[in-house]
Amino acid sequence: MLTWAVLGSGSSGNSYLFSDGTTSILIDQGYSVAELKRRLAHFQASVDQVQAVFVTHLHPDHARGVGTLARMHRVPVWIHAKTLEVQPQEVAALNIPHPLVQGVEPFQTITVGPFSLFCYETSHDCEGSVGWVIAHGGRTFMVLTDAGVTDEVQRRLASGAEVLFLEANYDVQMLKSGPYPPFLKARIASTAGHLSNDDALTFLAESGFCGRHVYFIHISDTNNSVPLLEAAARRVSPVPFTVCAKGTYHGVVGS
Ligand SMILES: [Zn+2]
Ligand SMILES: [Zn+2]
Repeated sequence: MLTWAVLGSGSSGNSYLFSDGTTSILIDQGYSVAELKRRLAHFQASVDQVQAVFVTHLHPDHARGVGTLARMHRVPVWIHAKTLEVQPQEVAALNIPHPLVQGVEPFQTITVGPFSLFCYETSHDCEGSVGWVIAHGGRTFMVLTDAGVTDEVQRRLASGAEVLFLEANYDVQMLKSGPYPPFLKARIASTAGHLSNDDALTFLAESGFCGRHVYFIHISDTNNSVPLLEAAARRVSPVPFTVCAKGTYHGVVGS
């Protein structure tokens, strides 16, 4: 029996839970520990069961809470080795007790109880950005967020996943005509920015994803519209999906 959950996604905080009731792991931790506890409780999970956090990248919405979680609950924090190498000051600023900082190379398998995970590189404006593949008892989950473009490796990984957590950050037209300053619009739409709705739906089609469910994540509340994405996904998604609007949480308990 497994529980998986989008504890939150978007520019104000991101965290994903995977738990078998005894062992829990998180992908990213962009919340205070109090807020994390509140969100975990919604899925009948406890912070005491969290045995590791796996970080996609150091932007605050993904990493601002890893230090306090590590200090208060002695939770190891796995980060791409390249990030540790090229962003030592930013890593130090997270204030993770030194022995709990763990470096990992892409496709290096990390085992935490019955879970095994590996990361793959993503194209984002934070060096060492990665996504994660999570396996438990023959079941596979994939988190792909904060990526300006996708690649063949990611499509191959998605084709074998049961559940996919896929960024759909913005609608191209809404970003273009929206209130953001030009430099920010350019950053978001760049190959080191974020995936648009079109990018996400194209990825879904090209990967041949035929798993059980897609969660669209990291939705902008300025440059995207949930009904718009839902309508577009309904036309092309081969499987059931959930659009995880900012501030909401979604998941399945014990399946
Ligand atoms: Zn982000
Ligand atoms: Zn980011």
